[in-house]
Amino acid sequence: MTQKAWAFLGGKQVPQEDAKVGVMTHALHYGTSVFEGIRGNWNDRIGKIAIFRLAEHYERLLRGCKILRIDLPYSVDDLCQITVDLADKNGFREDVYIRPLAFKGQEAVANLNLNSLDDEFMLVMLPFGSYIDNTRPLKCQTSSWRRPMDSSMPTGVKIAGLYTTSILAKSEALAAGYDEAILLNQDGSVSEGSGENLFMVRDGVISTPSETDNCLLGITRDSVIQLAKNELNMDVVQRHIHRSELYLADEVFLTGTAAHLTSVGELDNRVIGTGTTGAVTKQLQDLYFSTVVGDNDRYVNWCTFVTPSGG
Ligand code: PMP
Repeated sequence: MTQKAWAFLGGKQVPQEDAKVGVMTHALHYGTSVFEGIRGNWNDRIGKIAIFRLAEHYERLLRGCKILRIDLPYSVDDLCQITVDLADKNGFREDVYIRPLAFKGQEAVANLNLNSLDDEFMLVMLPFGSYIDNTRPLKCQTSSWRRPMDSSMPTGVKIAGLYTTSILAKSEALAAGYDEAILLNQDGSVSEGSGENLFMVRDGVISTPSETDNCLLGITRDSVIQLAKNELNMDVVQRHIHRSELYLADEVFLTGTAAHLTSVGELDNRVIGTGTTGAVTKQLQDLYFSTVVGDNDRYVNWCTFVTPSGG
C-alpha cells in the first residue's frame, strides 16, 4: 500500500489529496507566488532526515513575499516548525524535496492589484532522488533565451512567473540533446543555469556571477562560497563573466538544491578543461555531499534533523 502523503494548507496539516485550490486562484493565472525548493537528505547512519539550511530558505521566501506584497502570518521560526512537523507526519525515510509556496490565493481574475488580494501558504513534500545525473560531467548549451533583468522581474528570489524563462531554456536544451541550459544576461554576460548557479575555475581562481548579474541568490551558492573559503582557503570572486571565458575555463560547475554540485564537461560542444570533473570541483563536491547529510561536523548546524515518525 502506498503511504498517504500530508500537506499543509489553510493553516493546518491536511491529506495531500485534499489540498486543492480553485480554478480562479490569482496565482494560477498570473504567477503571483513565491516558492522554495528545499532538500531533506536521508542519513541512514543516524536514521534521520537532514533538512539543509531550512531557515535560510525561509528567509529567502519571506524576501520574495516582501517584494510581491504577500503577508504571511508566520515567522521564519514558525515556517521551520511547520516543515519539521510535516516531515515527521509524512514519515518518509528517504531523500525528500520540500516545496513551500506563498501565493495570492484569492479567487480573482482580471485584478492586477497585489495590494487587494488575500494571501495563502502551502507546503508539500515528496520522495525525491536525483534531479540531474551528477555522476558524470554535464553537456550544456548556452540558451537562446536570456535571463530576465531585475528591472523586469525580481531575480534574486524565487518568484514563480520567472520560471517561464527557465522552463523554456531547459526544454530547448533537452530537446537539442544537452543536459542543461546556461542563460546569459541581456548584455551577453553569464547569469546562471535554468535552476542552478554557475561557478568557473580558471588559473586557480573560482569566480561566479554577482547579485547584479540577475542570478538567484542560491543557498547552495552561498554554501559553496563558504566551503571554498573556509576549507580550501580559496576566496570566490563575484563578478561579471563573459561567455567565452567559460569556454576557456579549467572547470565549470553548477550548484542548486535539486541539482546539488555538478560539473560541466562540455559547453556548446566545446570541452571544458579536460572534460572530466576537475580537482577543485571534486574537492567541493566531497565537502558538499558530506555536509548536506549532516556528516560534516563543522557545518552540522546547517542541518535540521528530523526522525520521521509517520504519526
Ligand atoms: N538559480 C535558479 C534559477 C534556481 O531555480 C535555483 C534553485 N533554487 C538556483 C539557482 C540554486 O539555488 P539554491 O542553491 O538556493 O537551490
